[in-house]
Amino acid sequence: MPYKYLITVSGEIPLKSWRSRPRFYKTLIKNLSEVLREYGSTNYSFKIVDAKILLESDIDVLEDLSKVFGVMRVGEVDLISFSDLGDLVRKVGERTAGLVANKKFAVRVKRFGTHNFTSLDVARELGSFLKPYSAGVDLENPDVEIILEVRGPVTYLYKRLAEGVGGLPIGTEGRALSLLSGGIDSPVAAWLVAKRGVLVDFLHFFMGSPSASRLAFTVARTLTKNWFYGHNPRFYLIDLTHALNYIRVNIRWEFRQVVLKTLMYYLASKIAAGNYEAVVTGESIGQASSQTLANLSAAQVVSGLQLPILRPLVGFDKEEIVSIARKVGTYEISSMVGEPCSIAPSRVRTRVTVEELRNEFAKLPEDLIEKALSTLKILEVRSSGLEDVIPDKSVVIDYIPEDAVVLDLRDLDSYLEWHYPGALHYESVNLEDLRDKTLVLYCDRGNVSYVEALKLREKGFKAYSFLNGAEGLRRGLT
Ligand code: ATP
Ligand code: MG
Repeated sequence: MPYKYLITVSGEIPLKSWRSRPRFYKTLIKNLSEVLREYGSTNYSFKIVDAKILLESDIDVLEDLSKVFGVMRVGEVDLISFSDLGDLVRKVGERTAGLVANKKFAVRVKRFGTHNFTSLDVARELGSFLKPYSAGVDLENPDVEIILEVRGPVTYLYKRLAEGVGGLPIGTEGRALSLLSGGIDSPVAAWLVAKRGVLVDFLHFFMGSPSASRLAFTVARTLTKNWFYGHNPRFYLIDLTHALNYIRVNIRWEFRQVVLKTLMYYLASKIAAGNYEAVVTGESIGQASSQTLANLSAAQVVSGLQLPILRPLVGFDKEEIVSIARKVGTYEISSMVGEPCSIAPSRVRTRVTVEELRNEFAKLPEDLIEKALSTLKILEVRSSGLEDVIPDKSVVIDYIPEDAVVLDLRDLDSYLEWHYPGALHYESVNLEDLRDKTLVLYCDRGNVSYVEALKLREKGFKAYSFLNGAEGLRRGLT
């Protein structure tokens, strides 16, 4: 097969006990196979060579292999068999002479097994073979490195190298539920936990902005497609808009953030019960006034969440988090997620006591929480589309789904003067013809269309009202 890769696994894997080591290799090979399947390979094979993995494949996947957790380094290699040192030097020399032309080079050799020569002998002999073709040897600052691994009767000659991400194979370390806002922090937190071999699923709270939730889903998809080879995560979606409104009206502003956090932990404990061993958040100590140690601690106690909360960002500064987010590929999307309308515009209590928080949290009626839980929708990240992300019960949306029919509820004059491209005038349509369509209604400001959409829903239509009506639509177009 045209492509051969020698994969160096994370240093800690070969050091595992003989009893657990096979599990790590097996899982890693399964996850590596996902890369090949994903990119359409029909022919590939794996072999463990000492502590490394040799992969032969019909397609080039070097870069993608390096993103599989548990991979420390990947090299595309040529396999060269040889009879003795002279044979080895000649065969490798002939293949690499072209590479060193007019360049300063260095030869790096590792040797495993029994031979009647040392790695230094190989380096020296190959060095003198190549020197005449080159601009000389430079071990400190070479333009080209010739890297070889001599293993028994075969030499692996590296042609290209990619640094791997490290970590442990996903699936070797249990399951965690990651609270994903889509902002900069929580995706990084999820990634760091997944990198340690954990199967991470996502829990997202819809806070009233469909586009924020769609971005959160896009972030989940980016993590999944780029890094979670071997894992098909779930995206749990809970509509928190009612609860959020209730908090806004009934909880004093200095407690709102912490009560909201407590509610999120509480709901996470319900979703996680029985299936997950930990909950993950993107909190970092002191990053926001709601993230003081006192508040984090009180929120967990009051929420009754028994599972450990993993906060992989606790010790990171914002700059460090941003630089990981860039590397992971979520930074750009996360930057588009606006902070949801703040529920506590001014000062937040930085040191809430368990007693105080217990009192405040008790103000949330039980059926409010039950109602939030009842909105739970579970999506598979790999097979779901963005259109699945709006909670079923949410009526207001701020974008037009691809196959939607847009209906203008304003008077005919306004419609004729301007309407959303392709929109139909409400009075001119026969609703029965639109039974199986997604309908987006708009009026001037979004109030009439909201009520109308609710009525249509009662009649079994899949109807939405556009946020801020014609004004909102026009703004979106400019
Ligand atoms: P992020 O950058 O992850 O949004 P943040 O710095 O904005 O975090 P907070 O808004 O206090 O901080 O949120 C703290 C954590 O709570 C987040 O990292 C995330 O794990 C969780 N969280 C916040 N909002 C949501 C949401 N809408 N859905 C799910 N989890 C959330
Ligand atoms: Mg946030």
